[in-house]
Amino acid sequence: MNTTASAPAAKAGETELGRFGHWIGGREVAPHSGAYFTSTSPADRRVVAEIADGDSEDVAAAVAAAEAARRDWARSTTAERAAHLKALDAIVREHVDEFAAIEQAECGKLPFHSRMETLATAEYFDYYGGVVRTFHGGTIDQGPDQHTYTRHEPYGVVVIITPWNGALNQGARAIAPALAAGNTIVLKPSEFTSASTLLFARLATEAGLPDGVFNVVTGTGVGVGAPLVSHPAVRKISFTGSVTTGAAISKLAAERAVPVTLELGGKSPLVVFSDSDLDGAARAAAATVLINSGQVCSATTRLLVERDAQEDLLRRIADLLADKQPGRDFGPIITEPQYEKVLGFLESAEKEGAVAVTGGKPFTEGPGAAGYYIPPTVYSDCTPDMRVVREEVFGPVLVTLPFDTVEEAVELANDTPYGLSAAVWAGDGALGLAVAERIDAGQISVNGGLVSQETPFGGYKMSGYGREKGADAIYEHTQVKTVSLRLPN
Ligand code: NAD
Repeated sequence: MNTTASAPAAKAGETELGRFGHWIGGREVAPHSGAYFTSTSPADRRVVAEIADGDSEDVAAAVAAAEAARRDWARSTTAERAAHLKALDAIVREHVDEFAAIEQAECGKLPFHSRMETLATAEYFDYYGGVVRTFHGGTIDQGPDQHTYTRHEPYGVVVIITPWNGALNQGARAIAPALAAGNTIVLKPSEFTSASTLLFARLATEAGLPDGVFNVVTGTGVGVGAPLVSHPAVRKISFTGSVTTGAAISKLAAERAVPVTLELGGKSPLVVFSDSDLDGAARAAAATVLINSGQVCSATTRLLVERDAQEDLLRRIADLLADKQPGRDFGPIITEPQYEKVLGFLESAEKEGAVAVTGGKPFTEGPGAAGYYIPPTVYSDCTPDMRVVREEVFGPVLVTLPFDTVEEAVELANDTPYGLSAAVWAGDGALGLAVAERIDAGQISVNGGLVSQETPFGGYKMSGYGREKGADAIYEHTQVKTVSLRLPN
């Protein structure tokens, strides 16, 4: 584990990033229990921060603050909320280096990557600051003696629970539309990467966001996440994380009829036809295992390649991955248990007969062995029933399966319980689109097609439900009220 509850090691403020309390009602609040856990860097196991170890008392205080703020925030005009969101965009940009440094320390992210993610974080506030000004209900024509209209009203207190791999970025994806829609928020970040969200909360208050509109309680899933989900004043939950946790949260939420948005895991296909731009496809495959070391929910980690291009494509991918260095070209796995889990996948892949084209063995010396690094790994000779082919590894592991026909490509692409994303590379763009139409996934890129804040994101099948990003995501955080008036004759 890279967090240790109540570790006595560091005195307040002694760590690199310092000691962080919760952020409740516009101020920093010490944990009710007095306990802090330490957060350590997966790059070299050094302690980097002390984080408040929350409990249900802290949860109650944060929800009370959000509840107290919700009516005024809901009554603010869309122009007023837009101004706040634009201010949040500005503070994230202004402090980009600070945010990037925190996520480098807590997650071991590469500098260019943490900067890029922070700027994308700012974009969410800019985007929904614009979207909210076009946000309105409608009127319904029921004849001249009726006036009927709809309003999209906020739920009230929204809980956002985030994973570690995008930390603030993934938080912003839900925070921005939820605030834009007029909700107040209690956010629980991952216990492995809390500091960037806490810095954001402080800066948001300094930038004029009213007290109680955005609160952060840190701690574990059991200590903070579960009591938050069960709190009677919470009216909507937005969860990003694993299928197991998402299912547990959904069950609890169902008891109180609380709506949930679930952004869960994936095992997404990368389908490559032999007449496609093989260099482009190879770069996409290499990026899948290099970016965040494959710890990306939408990573396309199942390479499905037309048989006659398999050898050529694998050689190009191996060339791109040759000489990649830990800490310079790719980051570490987030925690020791996750690192062990990925090693377990390497062992099972070898045992089941997969052949490592590159990688496949842990580092035994040098900087790679100082942290939780796994070499980018590509397997050939895989079969659809192998564990490494079926399960989400959440690490730098790409598996390869050949296909002979379009039909077989589509069948293999859909042979998974997940459906988060997919990529298709085809010389014939129309064939690429036809295949994309038949893949059961929420987000599909053809020949390197782009995704951005404007493009809806979310899962089919076990990858979840509800959508984030895109203009319509604001409606995920609202409920419709219909009002009808009989007009006097
Ligand atoms: P996780 O499910 O272990 O944890 C996610 C969050 O849930 C953390 O904040 C954790 O503390 C909290 N939590 C754990 N148990 C809880 C409980 N009982 N009640 C309430 N909260 C609880 O996931 P992780 O390891 O942090 O993230 C990796 C997973 O997230 C992968 O499966 C990945 O694919 C997925 N993910 C999905 C998306 C997406 O947008 N679809 C994005 C990023 C990550």
